[in-house]
Amino acid sequence: GRKFFVGGNWKMNGNKDEIKKIVDGLNGAALNDNTDIVVSPPACYLEYTKGLLSPKISTAGQNCYKVAKGAFTGDLSPQMLIDVGADWVIIGHSERRNVFGEGDELIAEKTAFALESGLGVIACIGEKLEERESGKTEEVVFQQTKAIAAKVSNWDKVVLAYEPVWAIGTGKTATPQQAQDVHAQLRKWLKENVSESVANSLRIIYGGSVTGGNCKELAQSGDIDGFLVGGASLKPEFVEIINARG
Ligand code: 13P
Repeated sequence: GRKFFVGGNWKMNGNKDEIKKIVDGLNGAALNDNTDIVVSPPACYLEYTKGLLSPKISTAGQNCYKVAKGAFTGDLSPQMLIDVGADWVIIGHSERRNVFGEGDELIAEKTAFALESGLGVIACIGEKLEERESGKTEEVVFQQTKAIAAKVSNWDKVVLAYEPVWAIGTGKTATPQQAQDVHAQLRKWLKENVSESVANSLRIIYGGSVTGGNCKELAQSGDIDGFLVGGASLKPEFVEIINARG
């Protein structure tokens, strides 16, 4: 079986006081041992967050570049994330793609380099509203996955996050059926284009307006192996999402 995986993407939110409160809440909660739990603070708070967190909970960077060091003002490397305690990094989030203009090629290169450097990667894909409405969902997510697959040979430390752009931060969640359909199609694509063992073992998690209220139903779908949570990961209901599989 694929172990349930729940990531909290704090995005550009929080300060030391707020992070202390969030972490105190998580450390004091009864968290399902059958869930891999990762929180992703802004990089400048990664070491601080790691120092407060129970060892049951891992940390992730929200982004990193494709080389170890050098003249890349404003960026940071997987080696730096590892140095301050990260085990994971989120790559290719829709906000990186759409606000900061990152393309499939760069995202694939960053994914490969982060993996080579020893981080696990939460690789994000997802279609925009107009792409869904014009029937292009599969074409888009297959293309995004294909770019990553062209550069990745070992998938052991990859989690694929399907985050439809229209569901992110909008309060408009994909229905369990919509999410399950895309996850099942992705698994089929992986089977045909990567391997059957990767298709069976790779965790495909859903993100986009996941809440304490909708997580249990979403978690019942066979191909939904967890969640990547934005807004609700800053709130006490994140515990319910971690425990969604019961
Ligand atoms: P929300 O949960 O706030 O919709 O954000 C989802 C997301 O982008 C997680 O990476």
